Amino acid sequence: MSQKVRYAGGDALAKVHWTNGTQTRMACRACGIESDMAHVISVPHVLLDKPSMGFNRCSACGTLNCDLTVFTDYDEDNAFTENAQWMRHYLQSGAGIDFMIRPLQRIGMRGQLSLLDVGCGVGFTVSYWNWAKGDGHGVEPSAYGRLGSRILDDSIIPDYLSDVPALNGRKFDRVFSSEVIEHVNDTASFVAELKAVTAQDGILVLTTPNAGYIDPLNPLGVLMAALSPGLHRLLFSQQALEDLLRRTGFAYVSVLEVNERLIAYASEVPFERIEDPAAERKSYVRYLLDKSATADDPDLLSGLLFRAFKEQVNAGDFDGALSTANALLALIQGTYELDPANPETMRERVLRTSTFEEFGMVAPYFTPAYLYYAAMLTLQGKAFLPDALRGFEVAAELIQHGIALAPSLFQEAASLYWPAKLHVAIAAMRLDQHDKAKAVLQEILDGDSHMMARPDNALQLRALRELGVATLQSGEPERAMALFRQIAERAPHMRADVVGLYTTAHGQAQERIRPFLKA
Ligand SMILES: [Zn+2]
Repeated sequence: MSQKVRYAGGDALAKVHWTNGTQTRMACRACGIESDMAHVISVPHVLLDKPSMGFNRCSACGTLNCDLTVFTDYDEDNAFTENAQWMRHYLQSGAGIDFMIRPLQRIGMRGQLSLLDVGCGVGFTVSYWNWAKGDGHGVEPSAYGRLGSRILDDSIIPDYLSDVPALNGRKFDRVFSSEVIEHVNDTASFVAELKAVTAQDGILVLTTPNAGYIDPLNPLGVLMAALSPGLHRLLFSQQALEDLLRRTGFAYVSVLEVNERLIAYASEVPFERIEDPAAERKSYVRYLLDKSATADDPDLLSGLLFRAFKEQVNAGDFDGALSTANALLALIQGTYELDPANPETMRERVLRTSTFEEFGMVAPYFTPAYLYYAAMLTLQGKAFLPDALRGFEVAAELIQHGIALAPSLFQEAASLYWPAKLHVAIAAMRLDQHDKAKAVLQEILDGDSHMMARPDNALQLRALRELGVATLQSGEPERAMALFRQIAERAPHMRADVVGLYTTAHGQAQERIRPFLKA
C-alpha cells in the first residue's frame, strides 16, 4: 500500500478552517456558470501527503465546488480499494443499506419492475431488488463491484455502464445512483447518461451529499464524511440538483434535504411517493435474515445479522432480536474468539487498538453500536448481557474510541452516544447512585463534543427531568424545583408531568424548613 488512508481524526481536525474571506474565480461543476466563488471551508485531504483544499460556493446556484483539479477515485488502485479493513467496515456496518433501499421502496416495487443501479458499490440495492422478485442489475467499476458480484449477487457487473453494451441499450423502470454524482467530472453528461437508460415512464433516484449541511453548527465527523476531501468534486445545493434534473428533460422533479444528504426523484411522468415506515422496515429485516441464511462471507454475514438485530430492537421485536443476537454471538465467537455477551472482554480488546485497521482485526466494526442494542435488549428482560448499565457504559466508551480513530466511519454509532449516556444515568439512579447519575446527566446537558452531533432537544429535556429527580432524591428540593421550572418553561408539553414533581419538591422543601419556622 503506497498511501495510508488518513481519517478525519486527530491532527487532521486541527487543519479544518472555516471561511477565510477569499474569492476564487471558477466554473461551477453543477450549473456550469463561471463566477467569483466565496471560500467556505478548507479541509485536509483524506490521504496523507496530499495537499489541503478549499470548497467554494457558486454564487449562481449555491453548490460547493472543490478547488482541487486532481481527485482520488475508487476505480483506481489506491489506498481505499487496497484497504481490506475499509471493505470489511463497509460490509459490517458502513453501507447504509436501509438508506439506499428506502427511496426505492417509497416509489413502489410491485410487479416485475426492472432496476439499474449505477455505481452500486457492493450492490445491496440490486440484491434487495432481486430478493423482492424484481429484475435488478448493477454496475460498479471499483473493487467493491468485484466483491459484490462474488459474494452477493451475480447481477452486479464490475464495469462502467458505457462499457456494458447489453445494459446500455436497455431502458429501466427504476434507475438508481447513490453517492456517485459527487465523484463525477461532468455532472450534466452523467445525468444525461442516466436519463438515457430510464424508461419513459420510469423514475430516476439520486442521492448525494447536501451543500446546505456544510455549516459550523453541524458535527465535524459528519461534515468530513460529506465533504470526503480529495474524493468529492462538488456538493450540490438542493436547487442546483433540481435545476440540473429539469435541464436534462425531467418534467417531474423532487429533491429532498435529509440532513447531510439530498435525495432526488426525477421522471418524465407524475409519480407518487408513499411512506410506510413499518412495512418498509419489515421488508428490510426479512431481506437481511433471508440473505443471512445463504451468505458465506463472514463479514457480509455478520453485517446482515447486525443490521437485522438493530432493526428488531428498534421495532420492539425483542424475541426476534434475541434469536438474531444468538446467531451473531456464535459467529463473533468463531471469527474473533471473543465473547460478545461479555462487555468487559470486548472493552479490553477494543481499547487496546490504536488505529482503525487494528480495531477491525480484534472485533467487528459494529461492536459499539451492537453493545448499545444488546443493552437495550437486556433492559427488556431478555437477559443477554450480565447487566444493562454496564452494557450502555461500555458502548459509550467504545463509541468514543471509534470516533477518535475515524470519526467519519463511526457516525452511526455516534448517534447512540448520548442515548447510551442517558440510559447509564437512569440505571445509576435505580441503583441509588445519585452522584454518578447527576454527573452523567450534567454531561448530557453540557453536550460538549465537537466530533459528534450534540444531544437533541428532547434528549436534553429528558436529562434535565432526570437530573431534577436525582437532585430531589439526594435531598436538594430547592435546586430540583429550579430544574423543574426550567423544563416547564422550555417544553409546554412536559408541564403536566413536571408540575407533579415540582409539587413533591416543594413539599419536601416545606418539610425541611418546618423545624426552623417553629423555632
Ligand atoms: Zn453553480
